[in-house]
Amino acid sequence: MTPQRSGQYRNFADYKRQRARMARQLEERGISDEAVLAAMRAVQRHLFVPEALQSRAYEDHPLPIGFGQTISQPAVVAFMTQVLETRPDMRVLEIGTGSGYQTAVLAAMGLRVFTVERVEELHAAARELFAALGVEGVRMKLGDGTLGWKDQAPFDRIIVTAGGPALPHPLVEQLADPGIMVIPVGKKRAQRLLRISKRDGRVTARALGDVAFVDLVGDHGW
Ligand code: SAH
Repeated sequence: MTPQRSGQYRNFADYKRQRARMARQLEERGISDEAVLAAMRAVQRHLFVPEALQSRAYEDHPLPIGFGQTISQPAVVAFMTQVLETRPDMRVLEIGTGSGYQTAVLAAMGLRVFTVERVEELHAAARELFAALGVEGVRMKLGDGTLGWKDQAPFDRIIVTAGGPALPHPLVEQLADPGIMVIPVGKKRAQRLLRISKRDGRVTARALGDVAFVDLVGDHGW
């Protein structure tokens, strides 16, 4: 084995250990859905952040990914995913592909993911990364996600990973019945995470806590 290869292997093993530790910490903090924990252990978060930040990828912080955007912190990704109460094969709409990390977590859970991003460079970089990693079950679109993805609706689950001033009505319309959506709504950099449920034609909202996401920019956003 060449020194370079053994170094790569050591990193690989190290990162795997770091992910296992991250998953234990998530468990201690209330993540109990085994499918979510397994996906968090499997997806190589360090490959979704800029190279200079890779060694910090498994700390519980958001990290910058360029274009003024961030990859959400692992605890937030795990919590939002658990709130969705998914079952394999469900159709999930994600708004804000960003680095593609949350997308890859959903795909690792066997979900059919439809993800929309408005920044072309991020959309393209995530597409390349999914191809390189062999991520399957993901369809991607470049555009304004506050409008949803009409020709693919309805969606069993919707996850919005950017914060807007209000609940975009196209997303409510495109949510299946029964269906669950998780979305931060509020002011810039300070929102309330909402769990929206649609059942028998009725839409209800429950607040889950305070969060700070980057802006949801679009027709039904900022
Ligand atoms: N889930 C991402 C989080 C990225 S940050 C991850 O795991 O990395 C939020 C992303 O939402 C940014 O990339 C931003 O460009 C995108 N975004 C903001 N408004 C949007 C909109 N209206 N439609 C689609 N994407 C949007």
